[in-house]
Amino acid sequence: MICSCGKRQVSTWGDLSSLVMVVAEAPLFDDVKNGVAFSGNYGEALKTEMGKVGIQASGCRMLTMYKHVYDEECLFDHENTTLKELMGAKLILMLGSYCLSTYADCTLSEYSGTIVRSKFLRKSIVVAGPSIAAIGKTPLGELRLALELFAEQRRVLK
Ligand SMILES: [Zn+2]
Repeated sequence: MICSCGKRQVSTWGDLSSLVMVVAEAPLFDDVKNGVAFSGNYGEALKTEMGKVGIQASGCRMLTMYKHVYDEECLFDHENTTLKELMGAKLILMLGSYCLSTYADCTLSEYSGTIVRSKFLRKSIVVAGPSIAAIGKTPLGELRLALELFAEQRRVLK
């Protein structure tokens, strides 16, 4: 799909009817090349880590807040489109500081690995975690902490 700005967008992926969602900030280079969110090395690393806590990425709705690489021109449109996608979710793993500051009004450094409140998504349990672009650059423990909490919340989901 092509954005109104002319850039190629990545598609949401996984179980599109799932009420369990994983949202990252923006697609990375390989994701854009493939046209699919989470399809590059970082996405694969995330899927591996999700598997370790017993969650299949294909059973979740996997999306990015921005549908192409960061571009001032259409940020606002993407933020709104993604918010609509997130509405109705029971559980959301929200990865990265842009997502957290946009939707949950909080910083990653203070809230990573915890449940955060979103005024836009009052009915959803939102778990905060680090950006997948940080995989390999920062200790994996931070992501694992968030994933364990995400898995725990999924187990008790009604
Ligand atoms: Zn655009």
